[in-house]
Amino acid sequence: MRILVAEPVAEAALALLRERHDVDVRLGLPRGEFLARLPDYEALVVRSQVKVDAEAIAAGSRLIVVGRAGVGVDNVDVDAATQAGIVVVNAPTGNTVAAAEHTLALLFALARHVAAADASVRRGEWKRSAFGGVELTGRTLGIIGLGRIGTAIADRARGLGMHVIGYDPYVTAEAAGAHGIELRPLDDVLAEADVVTLHVPGTGDTRGLIDADRLARMKPTAFLLNVSRGSVVDEAALAAALRDARLGGAALDVYQAEPPTSSPILDAPNTVLTPHLGASTAEAQVRVGVEAAEQVLEVLERRMPRYAVNRPSNPRAQRPG
Ligand code: NAD
Repeated sequence: MRILVAEPVAEAALALLRERHDVDVRLGLPRGEFLARLPDYEALVVRSQVKVDAEAIAAGSRLIVVGRAGVGVDNVDVDAATQAGIVVVNAPTGNTVAAAEHTLALLFALARHVAAADASVRRGEWKRSAFGGVELTGRTLGIIGLGRIGTAIADRARGLGMHVIGYDPYVTAEAAGAHGIELRPLDDVLAEADVVTLHVPGTGDTRGLIDADRLARMKPTAFLLNVSRGSVVDEAALAAALRDARLGGAALDVYQAEPPTSSPILDAPNTVLTPHLGASTAEAQVRVGVEAAEQVLEVLERRMPRYAVNRPSNPRAQRPG
């Protein structure tokens, strides 16, 4: 069968797919050409940039499976795929460590002004008193979203001597407790945490979860970290809170629009900003690529994929012919 790989994935993943199928790697295709080529393929592999929207699903008249090398499927119209009988699979476990470690990198950078101090030294300055930081040991970390990444951060934060509280409406106190997390209502987490870190999926339910009201509940010295999805935070409200010193600082890896060329967050004080690097480690790229490739092969070979995001009632993979 024919597989279109439309974004970069690890060579090990391509090798796996090539063992049994014809693989075309076409990176950076203009949208029109991407749509024009789609009818030739049974499988499509993407990361987070190529939009597999209803139009693309309609164009992919032979598609059986869409594989997302990564966890969030917000660039895929899963409902349209389900309607069309196309299975969507992802690679949810491969980048957990990378995202957790990047979150901690941002936290340390914020606590010790690493980026601003670096820029200052490069300007020829030596302003030691301008960059006094805070220690993390003994502080309260509030984790919103206690899935794979949220719990991986809890496991690491305990080693830093942080007290960990968290909120997740779908997790029991026992499951949270297994990671040393005290499960609390959202408002309590916001009010008590010195650091609030977001690890929820980007869905309709989590859109604007951190808005002006919720920012106002946080301590004026608190840090906000977002390595989940940009839609979760109201960036204008966050920028205003930082400008008015109603919040201590914020570190973002994800944005409402990426790149965030006209976001007010670019001019807000006490921020550390990275360009969606959460999953960008050598190890994670191999892991997610291979994991996604394995899932795509499962569907093409008519087995049950472990990480199906949807369950079409009449999947094309099972149709005769
Ligand atoms: P996961 O599915 O394992 O965990 C998400 C958790 O959020 C679940 O436990 C779920 O119950 C919880 N949740 C859902 N709605 C919630 C709500 N309204 N309030 C609180 N909790 C809620 O996912 P994960 O692998 O831990 O990934 C978390 C997020 O990180 C996703 O948005 C993913 O796309 C993102 N991510 C970003 C990068 C990056 O490069 N920045 C890399 C990897 C993952």
